[in-house]
Amino acid sequence: MNYRQASLRDYQAPLHSGRRRGARRALRWLLPATFAVAAIAVFLLSSLDANALRVQEVPLELPASSIPQTVEIEQEGADGLVTSHTPAAGPAATAASRGEWKTLTIREGDSLARIFSEQGLKASELHKILKSGSIAKKLTRIYPGQTLKLRLSDDTGLEELVYEIDAMNSVQIRRQDDGYDAQLVVKVPERRSRHATATIESSLFGAAQKAGLPESIAAELASLFGWDIDFALDIRRGDQFTVVYEELYLDGDRIGTGDILAAEFVNRGKSYQAIRYADASGHVDYYTPEGRSMRKSFLRTPVAFSRISSRFSLGRKHPILNRIRAHKGVDYAAPRGTPVKSTGAGRIVWRGRKGGYGKAIVIQHGSKYSTLYGHLSRYRRGLKVGSRVQQGQVIGYVGSTGLATGPHLHYEFRVNGVHRNPLTVRLPAAAPLPARFRDDFRQVSQSSLALLRLAKTNAVALRD
Ligand SMILES: [Zn+2]
Repeated sequence: MNYRQASLRDYQAPLHSGRRRGARRALRWLLPATFAVAAIAVFLLSSLDANALRVQEVPLELPASSIPQTVEIEQEGADGLVTSHTPAAGPAATAASRGEWKTLTIREGDSLARIFSEQGLKASELHKILKSGSIAKKLTRIYPGQTLKLRLSDDTGLEELVYEIDAMNSVQIRRQDDGYDAQLVVKVPERRSRHATATIESSLFGAAQKAGLPESIAAELASLFGWDIDFALDIRRGDQFTVVYEELYLDGDRIGTGDILAAEFVNRGKSYQAIRYADASGHVDYYTPEGRSMRKSFLRTPVAFSRISSRFSLGRKHPILNRIRAHKGVDYAAPRGTPVKSTGAGRIVWRGRKGGYGKAIVIQHGSKYSTLYGHLSRYRRGLKVGSRVQQGQVIGYVGSTGLATGPHLHYEFRVNGVHRNPLTVRLPAAAPLPARFRDDFRQVSQSSLALLRLAKTNAVALRD
């Protein structure tokens, strides 16, 4: 049994995180330019050492000017408006302004009062700043290591103060005729598109690691395709995947991983593709190129990265009762305590001991479907009969209560009260893309598929 991915077992896919449509637009327009840059990269790389680059990743570099480094400023005002302009945040930008910039690093035990006094500033000025509103109040929570920039003038004292909360957020205080004005300056990271193609030797995570992909992208891939592919059962050596995703940069430094824009998974020769799409109403989801939702109303597996220890059958010898008995569910062997997820949204109709099932939960999904989870060691706190659960929500933990030889989850799927094999039952699909977004989606889908093709072409070029 492979429990190496234990830390990823309970991942949550960011299916509904927001994304700037602007970046995607820019990407769509810049495809030809991107292709040219990538083609040059392929040429350069393949002429170096083709054999060593079986699994490759080539950045889809966009010209620096194509994605402006936007800065959003939250201006404190009665109307709470958010305005956008470029702030003068640094010595260079304010050369024409009065005073000299001084940069201080906050030390252990520092307080704003102490810093003000050390700089020869009046306590009454600090009082005026803190009185200027809730944004300025952030100055009362300074931490060692943070940076404070002061612009000081000989005759007027403090002209401007910039408090850098972190790489993305800072508070800017400026002297006005009648006191101080405070703004929260939020830098928006630049999104750079990258792609990777990999072939699976033993596991998705191993292949992803080899291709230099962040763990979060591998987990998101598993979640995206988890509706169609059972990652505990279906994965074969030689399966391939290609992913186009975003990396976040701030001032040239990589600060994090963005979203998957498009992905393809080839499982046992069958190709599955997923396209990220944010519709005009702000809803973000993944769809097939035809506009069908990647999500079904049920997950195929309730326990991530487990091993199937017993399948659905209408006649098998029961290991404890030692007589022929139907096994109307699937057993997933997993360590005691492994989270068990509800495979669909629904309502808990049973939570308690249930004969040989031991501690069990039964969830009703609409009028037609129900699922059962048995042999649990314990239930998720706060859940009771009548509780509503979301799809993928943890409801309990693997155990061996009831008639069980070792820790495993016994999972049953019923349609109109009749037991069905959870591994093969046809799962109903979630709602497709609303018709009014189809045309827009088609454009996004085409550019995403082009990116996928480009990524695969690169991989082939590098391999051969
Ligand atoms: Zn069982």
